[in-house]
Amino acid sequence: MAAEKADILAQRNTRLGLVHQLIFGGVLLVVPALTVLTAFGIAPGTAVDDLHQAPVAQALDLPVPGATPAVPGRYVTQERVLRGDTVAALFERLGIHDARALDFLRTDATGRTIFRQLVPGRMLQAETGEQGELLALRYFLGSASLLEVMRSAEGFTARNRAVAEAPRVYYKTATIRSSLFAATDGAGIPDAIAMQIARVFSTDIDFHTDLRKGDRVSVVYEMIYDSGELVAPGRILCAEFVNDGHAYQAVLFTDDEGKDTYYSMDGSNRAKAFLRSPVEFSRISSGFGGRIHPIFNNWRAHTGVDFAAPRGTRVMASADGTVMSAGVRGGYGNAIEIRHGGAITTLYGHLTGFAQGIKAGARVRQGDVIGYVGSTGYATGPHLHYEFKISGMHQDPLKVALPKAEPVPAQLRPRFEQVAAAARSTLGRVSTAAAERFE
Ligand SMILES: [Zn+2]
Repeated sequence: MAAEKADILAQRNTRLGLVHQLIFGGVLLVVPALTVLTAFGIAPGTAVDDLHQAPVAQALDLPVPGATPAVPGRYVTQERVLRGDTVAALFERLGIHDARALDFLRTDATGRTIFRQLVPGRMLQAETGEQGELLALRYFLGSASLLEVMRSAEGFTARNRAVAEAPRVYYKTATIRSSLFAATDGAGIPDAIAMQIARVFSTDIDFHTDLRKGDRVSVVYEMIYDSGELVAPGRILCAEFVNDGHAYQAVLFTDDEGKDTYYSMDGSNRAKAFLRSPVEFSRISSGFGGRIHPIFNNWRAHTGVDFAAPRGTRVMASADGTVMSAGVRGGYGNAIEIRHGGAITTLYGHLTGFAQGIKAGARVRQGDVIGYVGSTGYATGPHLHYEFKISGMHQDPLKVALPKAEPVPAQLRPRFEQVAAAARSTLGRVSTAAAERFE
């Protein structure tokens, strides 16, 4: 994680100027707010009037939190809660080194709710001083409310409050020339949104290997502002990824219970039962034909697929399941085996270590971090050895036909059709505007 952050900072410092931004295809569109409302429906609790009035165009570079400290000696970082996370682990990733702050959160009636409600996917933002002392902590309970911890002369205080503004909506497009992150940087798309792009399309596109020069992404996403300040990236509302000439589209649809799911425009679920690659795509693995050659050995050679990745890269469960074993296993080194439905098992070898809580009997969900890439056992360099078996028979995980997740429920179909049609037309306008301007 530390290495990844250093890499992010290093790349940010070489951030390109406006001229490059135009070359990379950052695009600006002014779309009436009403279109947005029709397109995506209104999340419960969204202030409609605010949305109407909210400026949806942003010509300037986004003030991405964490890129540069706004005040000297004051550092702003943000992290998403992972499955199995602890407050201590989050403090570590946020760069908070403050035992008193942790004590306060444990004992304060309002503050302690953070320990009880660490929901994966939620965002935390921290402001810290030179020594890692906590100055402010904001835990976003949704896009509408947050828990805020502030340091004052008297000590810490915690309170729950509403996010002051409705999310603002951005329309961007970027053309891949060297890597996903170079393109999104050039277009002013924040890292957190770039990661969501990789996640939303990960069941169709392996971002380690499938990217091609000239691929294009168009994305409509929210950013959450509070009292005029950007506090957190929001959700992708719809997106299109043109990979190697094939266009994939995704639209966010919220069901009657408020659950968010990404669907293709025809209503099929974006999610698949198994991930295309169980190695997390990150800034350090961004690119094609470059530093990293993710697959250097096909499965026939040794009944598995090898994914080369830097030591410490997060390894994810490729599907929901139960851990059968996690420990040293001969030539596999540190290995994890997971049992899924349909007599399918997956195995992850040569790991440098296991994620917290990963042991025999543990339940895991697709995308959960289970371990870290290493070179334990018979391995010449850091890589993930991945095996996929059906009833004990090895299968090529890159070729085997896999079941799909549930499509849009029939009773929600009429509303979905409206959302999808509006998203399709919005994406059409975003990419057409980009094409006219840059081609
Ligand atoms: Zn292997």
